[in-house]
Amino acid sequence: MAVDLSKSDLVAAIVGAGTMGRGIAQICAQAGLTTLLFDSRDGAVKEAIAVIDKGLDGQVTKGRMTGEAKQGVLNRLKPIYSLDEVKQAGIVVEAIIENLDVKRELLRELEKHLAPDGVIATNTSSLSVTEIAAGSSNPERVAGLHFFNPPPLMKLVEVIGGLRTNPAVIDGLVKFSRRIGKHPVVVSDTPGFLVNHAGRAYGPEALRIVAQGIANPAEVDQLMKEAAGFRMGPFELLDLVGADVAHAVMVSIHRQYFGEPMYEPSAELAVRVAGGLLGRKTKQGFYDYSDAAAARAPTVTVPPAPMPTSAWVADEDGGNELAELLQKAGIKPQLGGVAGAGTLCFVVPFGEDASSAAVRLNLDPARTVAVDMLGQFSRRRTLMKTPLTKPEMLGAAAAALSSENVPVTVINDSPGFVVQRLIAMIVNVGTRIAELRIAVPADVDTAVELGLNYPKGPLALGDALGVGRILAVLDGMHAITHDPKYRATTWLRRRARLGVSLLTPD
Ligand code: NAD
Repeated sequence: MAVDLSKSDLVAAIVGAGTMGRGIAQICAQAGLTTLLFDSRDGAVKEAIAVIDKGLDGQVTKGRMTGEAKQGVLNRLKPIYSLDEVKQAGIVVEAIIENLDVKRELLRELEKHLAPDGVIATNTSSLSVTEIAAGSSNPERVAGLHFFNPPPLMKLVEVIGGLRTNPAVIDGLVKFSRRIGKHPVVVSDTPGFLVNHAGRAYGPEALRIVAQGIANPAEVDQLMKEAAGFRMGPFELLDLVGADVAHAVMVSIHRQYFGEPMYEPSAELAVRVAGGLLGRKTKQGFYDYSDAAAARAPTVTVPPAPMPTSAWVADEDGGNELAELLQKAGIKPQLGGVAGAGTLCFVVPFGEDASSAAVRLNLDPARTVAVDMLGQFSRRRTLMKTPLTKPEMLGAAAAALSSENVPVTVINDSPGFVVQRLIAMIVNVGTRIAELRIAVPADVDTAVELGLNYPKGPLALGDALGVGRILAVLDGMHAITHDPKYRATTWLRRRARLGVSLLTPD
């Protein structure tokens, strides 16, 4: 039997007083639990408590906490200098170095002291909970409790059962997470668990877009923030996380899923890691954080040109919306039919590149441009050229699209533009997580919203933008590139066929 983690006199022990351990200790003490803190390095616990003290001071200064409450938190934090003292604890959360052998050794040591019904939770981000627990003589009481950095601010925790974890331990950890003010999601023991798995779309696909010369990092970031409503662009995020950390996660998850193409890491990022262009921490990443940062040239130079008086628009999904927009700008649109000689032609593909759309619709590629109709049209628009689009045609199209002073990003030809590609990958990976039963569909979305700060979870995002359109983007990209990473999951395809929400369970 596992200890009752909701009992009022529960004592928590945190082992490892680094970045994560000290944050976890703080939230446990803030929730009123007597919290023991241990670290194998001399002085580490003292330093951790000083950091917590300083952080709480900030809260007091901002009026978010009283001085008395702060003192209460500090009083409940008890440094311990021997693992023997964990015998008082009902739960131990380990947040030590990410190394399987060291974690297993710690578990063996803990078992010597912890009460037989005490729960052991690991904060590992990349190791298998089952594998860590297999080193214990009682794997039923071992589970994952994955906090996010910084623990006091991040609401989410993933509760992970190993293959031999007692279900009562999972239930207890769910309640324990709520007790310390967190939002738990129950996740199966799979590579990257849920959040780090769901994050395998945004950065890697953005890196491919840049590697293929379709747009530069600043353009991709602008599009994702302004046209797709994300709070951070993928390259801002990579610079914040650090290329070294991001690359290691990509490699680890790709390897653990035995080379699944959807999670293919970026060879270009590996070179940046080797060169020390790690991001904010080295003052140089995809952006230059030095004082002398130079402005970046646009990927495609667009010569200024007058607004056209008329334009041809493909009579396909999205065509009507574009024709209306052009009409508002004072341009006479022709929806479908035969394009007149010399007319500028707009295509509106989902998952198809501008060149393929021009050929399919029997248009002159020198007069053809493509517009992404998936994004939010009011804050930024994407215009895509074929390799043959004439500069004056591109200039006219850019003038037409930037009516109402909405900025336009002009990119090179790519099946799926930028926004379609990134969103379709995020949704597809989200559906794969649901398909693999890593969590129930609603939890997939909640975890991504809370853990990755995306504007919506991947399943709701697909629903909002149109499941049929997302499937068309993936099928189009797959048909043109023949790259298996773009194959849609059966979860997505089935729900698109049935015309139902991606959140629909089986
Ligand atoms: P960290 O290096 O900041 O802290 C680790 C601490 O553990 C150090 O103080 C170290 O002295 C101590 N330690 C090492 N071996 C020990 C042992 N045998 N016994 C007791 N103490 C020991 O690391 P961190 O970033 O806090 O990560 C800790 C764990 O949390 C890892 O498993 C990591 O994967 C996971 N995690 C990290 C993050 C993050 O963003 N940093 C997020 C989620 C999970």
